[in-house]
Amino acid sequence: MTEEQNRVRLPPDEAFSTLGNEIRIRILSELGDADGPLSFSALYDRLEVSDSAQFNYHLDKLLGHFVRKLDDGYALSRPGQRVVEAILSGAVTDDPELDRTGVEDRCSACDRQLEIAWHNGSIELFCTDCQRRWERSWGRVGGPQEAPLGYLGRLPFPPAGLEDRTPSEILQAAYTWTNLELLAVASGLCPRCAATVERELNVCEDHDASEGPCGACGTSYAMRLTASCTNCLYSVGSAAAWGLLPTPELLTFVFDHGINPIAPNSAHRLDQVLNEYDETIHSLEPFRATMTFTTDGNSLHLTVDRSLGIREVA
Ligand SMILES: [Zn+2]
Ligand SMILES: [Zn+2]
Ligand SMILES: [Zn+2]
Repeated sequence: MTEEQNRVRLPPDEAFSTLGNEIRIRILSELGDADGPLSFSALYDRLEVSDSAQFNYHLDKLLGHFVRKLDDGYALSRPGQRVVEAILSGAVTDDPELDRTGVEDRCSACDRQLEIAWHNGSIELFCTDCQRRWERSWGRVGGPQEAPLGYLGRLPFPPAGLEDRTPSEILQAAYTWTNLELLAVASGLCPRCAATVERELNVCEDHDASEGPCGACGTSYAMRLTASCTNCLYSVGSAAAWGLLPTPELLTFVFDHGINPIAPNSAHRLDQVLNEYDETIHSLEPFRATMTFTTDGNSLHLTVDRSLGIREVA
């Protein structure tokens, strides 16, 4: 990218100080709510502020970057839309309460009812009877913390996603949301900012997860995938299988067995394929490992290299 393409129109501190006023946030929200551009008087009426000079002053501060004046009135620019979207998603303001609650879905390992809870921007998933899959949760403020018993993992999910949904619907929606994120990551794109993510396959050479998370790596998976954005703070870690989700081989296998990973109608079955698979490491140099996915009694064996390129299908 050239310097000209990369020019910053508004420094971040100025952008945020411009937004730091209640009337300006209400102007953005009203414009976001309108079906089309609003005239000065229509916008003024909607805001119900007492003083038109004050209203004019705040509108003027937003003009240019967040709001544009068109022939037929005022409208949000794309940055203004992004601000309204961020507010409405609740991601920067809300901290909903959802303590551990049972869902209809059952644990793919023991068939007991699963539970979900909300924590710091993620839905955390638990089985009341199984060993946890991860010793630590990476979703906690300040870094990874020891995970509660039965912790199966977390699905990033904005607060607005909890509204008007039953716990089971929340879990299904959180799978859809997370899978869409992971598809972007698997294609090398950051789902937050569209910059490049760097992926790394972490391999535990001393892996033993026969009685809960392995003592050496703290997880049930000998191969784990981590991805970090080269531009923003986004990072994610998962069982390595999720990195194969966008491959035709694994996609065809799950679709052929009636599982749609983009909109899973059964979180249980998708989880079973993508989290309860077998892994065998054949060699470290060159790296070769086979992941075996099973559903409905059918198996797919995918042998991969260090960058999760598929070397063999059986
Ligand atoms: Zn279980
Ligand atoms: Zn290990
Ligand atoms: Zn990013």
